[in-house]
Amino acid sequence: MNALKSIQLRLIISIIICLVVPVQAVSQASELDYLVAAVLKQTPMKEDLRQLCDEIGGRPTGSKANLKAVEWAMKKFKQAGVIAKKEKFTMPKYWSSRSTEALISGDVSFTADAAAMPFSTDTPAAGLKAPLIDLGRGTEEDFTRVGDKAKGAFVFIETGELLDIEGLFGEYARATDIEKRAFAAGVAGIVYMSSRPKGILYRHNASRGPKNKHPMLVMERDQAKRVLRLLRAGKTLFLTAKIDIETGGEYGSFNVIGEIPGSEKPGEFVVIGAHIDSWDLGTGAVDNGCNVVMLIDIARQMKRLNIKPKRTIRFILWNGEEQGMRGSWQYTRTHAHELDRHVMACSIDIGTGRILGFFTNGRKELVEPVNRALKPVQGLGPFQQIDVPIVGTDNYDFMMQGIGNLVANHDPFNYPTNYHAESDTFDKVDFSQLKLNTAIIAALTYGFANMAVTWKRQTRAEIQNLIDTTDLKRQMKMFYLYKIWLDGSRGRQ
Ligand SMILES: [Zn+2]
Repeated sequence: MNALKSIQLRLIISIIICLVVPVQAVSQASELDYLVAAVLKQTPMKEDLRQLCDEIGGRPTGSKANLKAVEWAMKKFKQAGVIAKKEKFTMPKYWSSRSTEALISGDVSFTADAAAMPFSTDTPAAGLKAPLIDLGRGTEEDFTRVGDKAKGAFVFIETGELLDIEGLFGEYARATDIEKRAFAAGVAGIVYMSSRPKGILYRHNASRGPKNKHPMLVMERDQAKRVLRLLRAGKTLFLTAKIDIETGGEYGSFNVIGEIPGSEKPGEFVVIGAHIDSWDLGTGAVDNGCNVVMLIDIARQMKRLNIKPKRTIRFILWNGEEQGMRGSWQYTRTHAHELDRHVMACSIDIGTGRILGFFTNGRKELVEPVNRALKPVQGLGPFQQIDVPIVGTDNYDFMMQGIGNLVANHDPFNYPTNYHAESDTFDKVDFSQLKLNTAIIAALTYGFANMAVTWKRQTRAEIQNLIDTTDLKRQMKMFYLYKIWLDGSRGRQ
């Protein structure tokens, strides 16, 4: 086919398209096409993540690095021409680990590498010495077998190697029960074998958060295995734990909000969020810097292309997520008067594996709109929505306010093995996949900001029904969230 004929043919096709497709649909489809093309090209996203991870580093809420990250994010939004604001909220308790030492003594002596678990208590400067006893996997039977010997001792918990996301969920679920049994038995403290190989330490959240009253630590896996072999060979061992923690009372932290005002319905909101805080052993690349820079980049490209969504889009970088999802909780209180007009709130928090679809969190009426929003990028799929409620990231308080909420479901890839660990660094991010994920989230955001809305905010009774008819109650109890829902202090009144 020669060039002229080809041009003529294309002209005829485009005239036909103009005749059969309403003008509005054509302009919207092309707007999103431009946006998707823009986020797939070379953008400052990778350099942004390098700055956030390598230059600012690990950024627990309450740290200087965290405040730096907030200012950095404000600057990034402003440089992109996006309206940016910080919203202050109060964190209940400051916690920061200075150092942790674990000295083994008794029949055999050596020093083991260890990390304090978040909200572990400190010990006297000379250390806290107590017998170290083998508590197996910390089951009910294990505690029964050991009986009174657990009292006043450091209980040592064996773990399997963490391989996948199920393993990670399992670790959380077991830890809540282990802590309950251990504290009821009057232990001096808890020592977990690190579930990660190759000497990797991490900060596994204690289930009670700031309410924890015991020293708790994770011991390097190979040394922990040696401890276990010695104990099972009948040796008597003691642990002297030296945990130096800086603690304090309430303090202020900030969410960062980048806003693109709606052109037709500025009073209706779509929230796309990723948490900017991290733990401090690594530099928070996979959890969750990668998705922070993704949101900044989508906002940047929307602004650059002068895209005007019908509804207001809030790109929110949550703070305090790792310490009880405090930033998103506060947002639902600060913006209580606007919540009826929040159409959807999505969290992206599972690393850089391929986005497989979205958790619709028990709101099956959202499955079809999500499918619709993803249609323009279906080549990056297939996508499958999973309609079960999940607890553990910043969708939670939106779910408990009855707002349509989503969590991006990723191929776990290297997320579980680097979770909260020393190894969560810039080099773990798969940038080609992050680019494709950015296009997916851009399409989802754009779709929800423009589509007709057929779903409503749920009442408290409807939310209670969701809790009663799904796995939600169990998950809420695991995170100590159920009582405060029942008494009305967290969630829709
Ligand atoms: Zn996270």
